[in-house]
Amino acid sequence: MRGKPKSAWLQFSRTSVALLSCASGMLFITTQSALSEPNKQIVSVRISNDPVRRMEDLKDLSQFDILGVSLREGLAEIALSSSALSQLKDMGFQIEFSPLNAQLQRETLEPYLTPSEVLDSLSSLSQAYPALTELKTIGQTRRKRAIQALVISSEPSNQNRPTILFNAMHHAREVMTTEVVMHMAQVLLKGYGVDPEITHWLDTARIILVPQVNPDGNQLVHEGQAMWRKNAWESEGRTFGVDINRNYPTLWGACNGSSTNKSSDSFRGPEASSEPETKAMIALIQSERPVANISYHSFSEMILYPYGCRKEANPSLELFKSIGADMKANVIDDSGKTNTYSLGTPPELLYEADGTDADWQFREAGVLAFAMEVNGRLQGFQPSHKRWRDITVVRQEGAWKTLIRRTLEQGVQGQILSRQLGEVSYRIAKVLNGEREDFTGGDKSVKPFRTRSADGFVFNTLLPGEYQLSFSLGDTPTKTVNFTVKQGEVTDLGDIRL
Ligand SMILES: [Zn+2]
Repeated sequence: MRGKPKSAWLQFSRTSVALLSCASGMLFITTQSALSEPNKQIVSVRISNDPVRRMEDLKDLSQFDILGVSLREGLAEIALSSSALSQLKDMGFQIEFSPLNAQLQRETLEPYLTPSEVLDSLSSLSQAYPALTELKTIGQTRRKRAIQALVISSEPSNQNRPTILFNAMHHAREVMTTEVVMHMAQVLLKGYGVDPEITHWLDTARIILVPQVNPDGNQLVHEGQAMWRKNAWESEGRTFGVDINRNYPTLWGACNGSSTNKSSDSFRGPEASSEPETKAMIALIQSERPVANISYHSFSEMILYPYGCRKEANPSLELFKSIGADMKANVIDDSGKTNTYSLGTPPELLYEADGTDADWQFREAGVLAFAMEVNGRLQGFQPSHKRWRDITVVRQEGAWKTLIRRTLEQGVQGQILSRQLGEVSYRIAKVLNGEREDFTGGDKSVKPFRTRSADGFVFNTLLPGEYQLSFSLGDTPTKTVNFTVKQGEVTDLGDIRL
């Protein structure tokens, strides 16, 4: 395994020496908020011979922080300590110099939005468009920062409309993701009354934006810890942080997809949904009952859908694949091309991940929940703001517009009339050659749907076909309705008396 050093190796070795000397200098200038992280460096690891197995090998070693991958190039970017580097080499991995080290060495973070700037921008938008917005504080972090959601619609408080959620920055260092969602707010609000499609969306649906789930963590990034991923959870007087996207109660710690080590970057927390950020998102989704969602992450140019554990089967796979392929065809990558994002589940494309928000949203709340990894390997978490911020947020428009379009254009809706609305749930089964196939998974996989509003509004996005909708009051089945969904149409069942 130890052949002659290749030129990339020579280049890498020289740079790591430079990094280490820079690191020792850091001890004297930590008060100046430089972005260098003295104990970390980034390497590119070749995984092209068997990407998924190689990623699992890497993830088993908790001292390696996997930042992102390029499946096309067969390279993964890993942050590690110098001592872990030799272990990586001993395991037979081919290592190359990562261009992302330059981001660790910057003296200041590029002008990405800070937590207080996000709140200021949301407040300005809600004041500029009072009729189209409702600004809500959905939770408070341990360090007393507000987590806010902006509802955008011609009737923001009307829950008898299909709702689509977009959230960003479960992970603190993924600064581009907040920019994507803030840009979305601008496009939707400026487009109302101007762009016929946006006007139609806001007149018939509600869009909810949570641009920054993890402001505490992001503040640490702005204060100099460029590679900080988790929140600001403390233990024994030290800030360890919990990976919020491993803290959701669905499949919490259920597969090889998180860590019990509080120093690990994928530490799942002391218990399921222990974190205020997790609780805030769960409460928002339980009260707003969205139909679909994108959770924005960076980087790797991927579109992900449930489940994060390999053994779990997704009963709505066909629908996720269909909408995902459409998003893939409409999102533009960093090289200006479409149809290049990878599409699949986390274990298909990366590694297992448990306790994620998308899995919880899908299983517990009936949400078509996607995650998107924006930007490629060369841009990383904090690409040059001047060069990449505007171009990236515009290139993402095709994907989120596709999700809104596909969610609203085809499926089933209705209005339940019942004295016991709080107890109503329903399943949808696809009927194929007279056989019923549970779309919700029925028994063990996905919970039955709740109505989309407390008033009994029903809405589900479906592919064309024959379906059967079965209602229950508590555990008692009460009614079934057969219906057909045609291409490009929402079948309206009207009033449904239970
Ligand atoms: Zn992430």
